[in-house]
Amino acid sequence: MTRCVARELVEGSGVDAERLVDLLVERAVAEVGNYYYYTLLRRHLVGVEGDALRRVIDDAREEDRNHFEALVPRIYELGGRLPAVPATALGGLSGLRDLPAEADVPQILPVLLKAAEESVRAYTELCSVTSGKDHRTYNLVLAILHEEIAHQVWLLEFLGRGAMEHPARPRELSPFVTQFLHAPRPVALKSVSCPA
Ligand code: ZN
Repeated sequence: MTRCVARELVEGSGVDAERLVDLLVERAVAEVGNYYYYTLLRRHLVGVEGDALRRVIDDAREEDRNHFEALVPRIYELGGRLPAVPATALGGLSGLRDLPAEADVPQILPVLLKAAEESVRAYTELCSVTSGKDHRTYNLVLAILHEEIAHQVWLLEFLGRGAMEHPARPRELSPFVTQFLHAPRPVALKSVSCPA
């Protein structure tokens, strides 16, 4: 069996690599599920409140896509693979796909908030699993955690103030995760194929 150096290093530092990869894959699938659901939801939001919530969702949607793209390279470095899943099996919010023609904002907000809380919980767990052991994954999941907390704050602010102005673009999206996007492929890992 070929060696997977990144995985060996992580295991050597005391992390259960298999569990870590499972958690990372779960999050990656949830992120793309959120992106999918947000893309549908934004088409169903109407009225002043709907327009305002759409601005929040648009920013969260772009950042969740970035989270997915930032997670994938680390999953592959650790010898993990993403499952080829049909859209119906996506995690995150996509299980709630039966959208009415006009989404009811008061009804949809608790669902979005619950998903945001779940994301914060999951990335907090990933920080705990990797803290002081797997610095590379820790830095990544901490960066995503910062942005997931921001999503939660946007929704809570919306809930508190109604159709308030969400900071209009251009504003910086993914201020914490950008550093992990478009990173050069690690040369040392090219010659090493990890077990599927
Ligand atoms: Zn996310």
